[in-house]
Amino acid sequence: MTTLRQYNENTPQYFFYKDMHQKQSLDFVIKKKKQYSNLNNIQMNIHKALSLMDTFVDPSDPDLDVPNSIHAYQTAERIRKKNPENKQLQLTGLIHDLGKVLFNFGEENWSVVGDTFLLGYPFPKSIVYYETMKNNPDYNKYTNNGIYEVNCGLDKLNISFGHDEYLYQVLLQNKDKHKLDSKYWDIIRFHSFYPWHTGNDYHQFMNESDKNILQDVLYFNQFDLYSKEDDTEINDNVKQYYNDLLKEYFPNTLQW
Ligand code: FE
Ligand code: FE
Repeated sequence: MTTLRQYNENTPQYFFYKDMHQKQSLDFVIKKKKQYSNLNNIQMNIHKALSLMDTFVDPSDPDLDVPNSIHAYQTAERIRKKNPENKQLQLTGLIHDLGKVLFNFGEENWSVVGDTFLLGYPFPKSIVYYETMKNNPDYNKYTNNGIYEVNCGLDKLNISFGHDEYLYQVLLQNKDKHKLDSKYWDIIRFHSFYPWHTGNDYHQFMNESDKNILQDVLYFNQFDLYSKEDDTEINDNVKQYYNDLLKEYFPNTLQW
């Protein structure tokens, strides 16, 4: 079996995370969340966003060397095999990375992709390439629970900015225009938050409902991981199946 998520030094991933860890400070995150809070970038349907992924290969992922649109269909198909009745979870697989359209708005790699981490709080060792966090302007700035209260809820946290938070905002602010339940927006919002969902850090900030989110994210995550041995074929029938799902759940143009 292939070993996934191996992060070695002096690889493209190392230099990507070094950049990200130097530049994603609390000030930066607050600024980006504000900049994208009113979604005045473009009007398009989800289908158009999916087609924009045809030319994009994620530079932060050591396992992925196919365009993101293929990753989208493969994630959805892996979910469909195990959950043939759960159309909303399949759709979540299909759209979970569409926040990467941030690239089209001029955002750099390090504010679009990669594992996310919490700002306004000490950096835990579960962060990938933790040693590069020493270049962060907020390194050693916070102690104990930092700027947060215990049990404040994940929603209150300032997590490094990227495609997770951005697509969550798109789904939230366009909620009258699509039929995907909010449970699935939360999976999308925290799917890259590895120090939390896999590293078991930051759990003191969770409230009761966040415990369900954690279970949902962990269940989803196994389908998001790419395997080169994966022979999931994306043919026209598969694409038609998802076309129909998109028409049913996302019939309208969205504000991005
Ligand atoms: Fe992602
Ligand atoms: Fe993904």
